[in-house]
Amino acid sequence: MDDRASGRQAGAGLLATDPGERLPAIVVCDHNHIDSGIHTDGDLYTLDVAGVDRLANWQHLDETAYRRRSHAWLEAIVAGLDAEWPGLAGAVVEQHIATARTMHEYLNTPEGAVYGWDYRVPDGIPRGGPLGSPATSVDGLWLASSYSGMGGFTGAMGGGTAAARAAMAALPS
Ligand SMILES: Cc1cc2nc3c(=O)[nH]c(=O)nc-3n(C[C@H](O)[C@H](O)[C@H](O)COP(=O)(O)OP(=O)(O)OC[C@H]3O[C@@H](n4cnc5c(N)ncnc54)[C@H](O)[C@@H]3O)c2cc1C
Repeated sequence: MDDRASGRQAGAGLLATDPGERLPAIVVCDHNHIDSGIHTDGDLYTLDVAGVDRLANWQHLDETAYRRRSHAWLEAIVAGLDAEWPGLAGAVVEQHIATARTMHEYLNTPEGAVYGWDYRVPDGIPRGGPLGSPATSVDGLWLASSYSGMGGFTGAMGGGTAAARAAMAALPS
């Protein structure tokens, strides 16, 4: 295991207990820098915070313990953001946290994976070839989906393009 992998595991493992001294590594995404259409309501803005988690941190907890600990982490993360950007916590009017358990329960994804499947990491930098295939075992049926190639919205768009190309190529000339 390289240092980056062990660092990620340590980060995800922190959520297995109540918040302490350390926060896991998180990324903060301010969608208001693009015309996302999300910001429609006066002075209210959305701010997304993402990090690494695993289902084992939460799966065994009963509902009360789950809510208590996930809320404690939400508070700790907002406090961490406030330390970086003073005043941020006071501006929050609504806050939610979603864990690997949320993904597992709402999306039924394996181990609560946010991208929904066990991604096969390429050996090197992808050079443009297909990462998967939109083909199915049913003749004339293609998958327009991230599940046919790469994860995420980009993968869903790429999967749709590949499916459309495959369908058009199969049309009688
Ligand atoms: C919280 C969260 C944050 C994310 N953030 C990002 C991000 O910042 N950037 C990014 O690139 N990706 C992100 N993703 C991943 C991205 O949302 C997905 O990879 C992408 O939406 C997958 O698109 P899809 O069309 O392949 O599948 P989906 O969007 O999952 O569409 C599948 C559809 O099939 C329907 N369906 C399922 N089973 C059946 C059935 N039996 N019959 C009929 N319909 C069915 C489902 O209801 C759903 O509408 C995020 C995902 C989550 C959960």
